[in-house]
Amino acid sequence: MAFTKKTVRDADVDGRRVLVRVDFNVPLRDGAVADDTRIRAAIPTITYLKEHNARTILMSHLGRPKGDGPEPELSLRPAADKLAELTGFDVTFVDDTYGEKAAAAVAALQPGGILVLENVRFDKREKKNDPEIAQRLASYGDIFVLDAFGTAHRAQGSVVGPAAYLPAYAGFLLEKEVDTLTSIFADPARPFVAIVGGSKVSSKIGVLDHLIDSADTLIIGGGMAYTFFLAKGYSVGSSLKEEDWVERAGEMIRKAEAKGCKILLPIDNVVADHFGEDATGEVVDSDQIPDDRMGMDIGPKTVELYCEAVKGAKTVFWNGPMGVFEMDQFAKGTEAVARAIADSDCTSIIGGGDSVAAINKFGLANKMSWISTGGGASMELVEGKALPGVEALLDA
Ligand code: ADP
Ligand code: MG
Repeated sequence: MAFTKKTVRDADVDGRRVLVRVDFNVPLRDGAVADDTRIRAAIPTITYLKEHNARTILMSHLGRPKGDGPEPELSLRPAADKLAELTGFDVTFVDDTYGEKAAAAVAALQPGGILVLENVRFDKREKKNDPEIAQRLASYGDIFVLDAFGTAHRAQGSVVGPAAYLPAYAGFLLEKEVDTLTSIFADPARPFVAIVGGSKVSSKIGVLDHLIDSADTLIIGGGMAYTFFLAKGYSVGSSLKEEDWVERAGEMIRKAEAKGCKILLPIDNVVADHFGEDATGEVVDSDQIPDDRMGMDIGPKTVELYCEAVKGAKTVFWNGPMGVFEMDQFAKGTEAVARAIADSDCTSIIGGGDSVAAINKFGLANKMSWISTGGGASMELVEGKALPGVEALLDA
């Protein structure tokens, strides 16, 4: 599916005030940006605007302020500094969002200039999509650009609000994210192998359902596998399980059969007697999990099976670790699958906070075709939902 909204390429930005919602919601440590991935991801749009002589006004949230006024430790100033450092551009920061000081900084902005406003969530009306907030922000711009993929699933004042008052376009990050994450359902190169893991079936129901419709093979790992085991009648000992979802897991297995989507479940597992850093693993087959053991990772025979499936794939989508990868002794399954994806020529698309953390931990990020910057937003796309921020943009 091609992207169906207008992008910043379609807008005349020369000399005009372009209000851009970016996602600079970055982790901070000691007052500095600890991980600049999200800032880097916004640079293509910001560079384009500068090169086309726009007056660029950037806004974002950061963290979870109370919404009753400024909280210095959640200021966007470090993000503005990081943007200046990464691009070499002059970047002005103003410690105001909705007041006269912000308006004055916007008015002083020259063509080619870049201004970063203070955290939009210092006023709690932003999250409520209050029209006063939206109008105030819209008054700063002639054009609105949404590039904050990570918050595009939230109908909030700075995300969807300005689109009611200004012509609204997508930035390059938003375009690429939506295009990539929807095209795997429209016309994937086949075989299309989807890998879903992580802790719970319940949090991934929509994702699993939609993937079954499209994937040739669905690989299940992580804690959610044990709820599928229950559906198959295996006992799972003290493994993570969701009794209320067993029936649904069984339905999914049947739906996959009917649709011709092959589901792979672990054939062996690394189990431990408790959940902890000091726990040691032993390998057991999936129908042999002792009552006093819990599954912590996929076992070696499963690793082989899954890596073989990945090797034959043209498209791989991966969300959710294969085991408790935070503990080294239970990270082998996740690492082996990540390496198989990295070593393959397939188009590889990764989504989900913990999956991305795992890939970074193994140093494999640059071997993947696309790593989504949005957790919740990417999952909603993979569930087949429309994102309110995207919906509000002009149709192409
Ligand atoms: P993502 O953020 O990539 O979408 P999730 O949040 O769904 O992934 O799941 C990640 C978590 O699942 C990790 O913290 C990991 O430790 C946990 N997990 C994986 N396998 C197991 C397991 N067998 N038992 C308990 N927790 C698990
Ligand atoms: Mg997670």
